[in-house]
Amino acid sequence: MAEGPPSACMPGTAIWPEESDMTPDEVRMTEHRYLVPTYARPDVVFTHGRGVHLYDAEGRAYLDFGAGIAVNALGYSDPEWCQAVSDQATKLVHVSNLYHSSPHVQLAQRLVEHSFADRVFFGNSGSEANEAAIKFARAWARRGGRAGTDVVAFEGGFHGRTLGSLSITPRQKYQAPFEPLVPGVHILPYNDLEAARRAIDERVCAVFVEPIQGEGGVRPADKDFLLGLRSLCSETGALLVFDEIQCGLGRAGTLWAHEFYGVEPDMMTLAKPLAGGLPIGATLVTEEVARVIHVGDHGSTFGAGPLVCRAAQVVFDRISRPAFLENVVEQADNLWRGLQELESKHLLEIRGRGLMIGLEFDVPMGPLVDSLLQSGLIGLTAGENVLRLTPPLVIEKEHVDLAIDILNSALSGLERPAREA
Ligand code: PLP
Repeated sequence: MAEGPPSACMPGTAIWPEESDMTPDEVRMTEHRYLVPTYARPDVVFTHGRGVHLYDAEGRAYLDFGAGIAVNALGYSDPEWCQAVSDQATKLVHVSNLYHSSPHVQLAQRLVEHSFADRVFFGNSGSEANEAAIKFARAWARRGGRAGTDVVAFEGGFHGRTLGSLSITPRQKYQAPFEPLVPGVHILPYNDLEAARRAIDERVCAVFVEPIQGEGGVRPADKDFLLGLRSLCSETGALLVFDEIQCGLGRAGTLWAHEFYGVEPDMMTLAKPLAGGLPIGATLVTEEVARVIHVGDHGSTFGAGPLVCRAAQVVFDRISRPAFLENVVEQADNLWRGLQELESKHLLEIRGRGLMIGLEFDVPMGPLVDSLLQSGLIGLTAGENVLRLTPPLVIEKEHVDLAIDILNSALSGLERPAREA
């Protein structure tokens, strides 16, 4: 450490000189003037990315352990992905769901052949994938003559911001301004099987659960909990829906996060990394569920577009390769080992699975995430006190080592808030 704190910020190491038509100040001021203020962003203005690094307008490099909120599984500017997208862009980008085209059919085949599912519906985001799952569950209840159309979800869960998915996302801050929400939702404590036993009966048509909660603080489900939910759903006839939008597609070290549990759902929702940064959502269902959905029941103008589905084929083919997943497991082992050796009196717990990791501290994480950014490491928060690390799945040992060095250095500067000092 003699030369000062480690840093991934290397002025002048941008891969190519970025010719921007706006200065960073102009970008910030124009945003301030013209955008609906739904985000509080740090000052940095990113211009491009390559591999596991992002570059800002001043040419500084950042090691990205956030990956665009667990999206950029292949990192940035992956050559195969870029080639496929540019080839497809010259052929067909959009044709609408009124007509046949091949990319979404090929993608659906891949997803089905590698999962419990028999059929797939494509939308444009995670929220939309869950929205479709809620609608499918309702149709399944109504057309199957079930007693009720209620839905169960869990405390700490996050399923999206559209009205249906927001209704099963029990955060007061997200929900309160937009009430009334969709009725018939029951929120239960996560990992509490007894509470689930008391609440799940024939009034319930679907149970939504993240095998590893992301936004809620990176909390894996207990094995008994998911096994118990499976039994309860099978006994009462409710559909078990796994939201693997954040934890799925290799992030947990297996293709699907639920593989660890040996439990299969009736529906599963995917999004974030599936198309390598292009917007996509997928709702995977069993034949039994698909049977109650008829032509015209649901739809999307952009969903299943040829460009995005061609991009997703590249991502899926890479992630589903055993060697790719072996690297995820190997780098996850390296990262967990390094994190377990971190020294901080504020660190309470490290949890998660694979390359989806949460470090819970006894102090708010905003200042630490800012200081990491200053040192060239991008990390995320999950709730107030959890530092969330979701790096691209293509990281290597050198990236892990550098991230640990930067973290160690930033942690040494972590002070207790004044009121607690
Ligand atoms: N489900 C989970 C588990 C998520 O983490 C998210 C987003 O963070 C969503 C759903 C919503 O996805 P989107 O933001 O693409 O609508």
